[in-house]
Amino acid sequence: MPVESNSSSGGNVRVVVRVRGFLPREIERGAVNLIEMNPRNQSTTLYPPPLDSTRGNARKVMDKKVFTFDNSFWSFSRDDDHYADQDDVYNALGEEFLDHNFEGYHTCIVAYGQTGAGKSYSMMGTPEHPGLIPRTCRDLFERIESNNSPSVNYSVRVSYFEVYNEHVRDLLVPRRDPPYYLKVRESPTEGPYIKDLTEVPVRGIAEVLKWMKMGDNSRTVASTKMNDTSSRSHAVFTLVLKQIHHDIDTDETTERVARIRLVDLAGSERANSTGATGARLREGSNINKSLTTLGRVIAALADEPPQKRGGRKKEVVPYRDSVSSPQLTVPHHSAKLILPSQILTWLLKDSLGGNSKTAMIACISPSDYDETLSTLRYADQAK
Ligand code: ADP
Repeated sequence: MPVESNSSSGGNVRVVVRVRGFLPREIERGAVNLIEMNPRNQSTTLYPPPLDSTRGNARKVMDKKVFTFDNSFWSFSRDDDHYADQDDVYNALGEEFLDHNFEGYHTCIVAYGQTGAGKSYSMMGTPEHPGLIPRTCRDLFERIESNNSPSVNYSVRVSYFEVYNEHVRDLLVPRRDPPYYLKVRESPTEGPYIKDLTEVPVRGIAEVLKWMKMGDNSRTVASTKMNDTSSRSHAVFTLVLKQIHHDIDTDETTERVARIRLVDLAGSERANSTGATGARLREGSNINKSLTTLGRVIAALADEPPQKRGGRKKEVVPYRDSVSSPQLTVPHHSAKLILPSQILTWLLKDSLGGNSKTAMIACISPSDYDETLSTLRYADQAK
């Protein structure tokens, strides 16, 4: 049996996979479940589609593929006893990441997968089944409220931007026509930042969700054959938690700032399955390049032994890995040259590596062999 992977990542990078159940349109076309997960060793197995639904002879020799991740979340049917609900996903990732934030470190959770695979469901969820973002916010404010020590002062701010066709757009301001793109800069002390990005102070979960909803409505989407609306942009939602500790004995004040990045990546579907042409095809190619770069960076972080973390950052992580495109873009005022496909990764630089924790949730649908294999391979390489 070909095992595509047999080890799981350790240290500060976590890679998990989650399969959703059938959607009505899949049931209608008589879709077959190709996924099996083993809760004991967290493996995910992808089976080839049945022969009558294959295209061409090559399919007949396909084997099943087995991958192992930090978690394989089975969200196929609520009737199954190992069904992983939103709580399970939060308990496995979100809680620990928030602990890390309260210790003053950054975290980054990215959702990867084809359109319709469950990225938004995992990150945002629904009113009845809230996902990682609302749960993180709720837990964050509950922890702040329960800590009524007068020596600590907390503040939380949010920002929300999208990277679309390698341009950065503020999602917390109304859309403009023509679109208004923000400039990206690098500060010697703070690292990469987006000039003039809106950052709003928030006092509770209701305010956070209000801003988030506004940003979601402003996101760039497009119609493709795969889904009515497909996310064509990477959306980065950030909570900044600032803690100011005042030591009454010494009268000293210390400040801890942690960035919580929650990223809903653009749909990873390969251009040939979306029926895209022209500008849309170019858009797809930009998306693919930036996803490849991000995957490489996360993989490099996972390979870094944990004991080397902290202290000075080693320059082994290919934030500016070279790509074929010679076109140069932002930041205009920085001496460093950033290639288009690297903007997302570069912007997330402060939240990836060092003492930060990073997680990738690879979302898969149960009945799409090609896209699912591509997602599982991507996630496997990121470990
Ligand atoms: P994406 O963001 O990757 O495009 P969505 O999160 O919008 O995909 O998911 C597509 C559909 O599948 C939505 O109707 C969503 O509610 C449903 N869905 C996705 N994941 C799950 C899950 N784990 N459990 C139940 N429904 C899900």
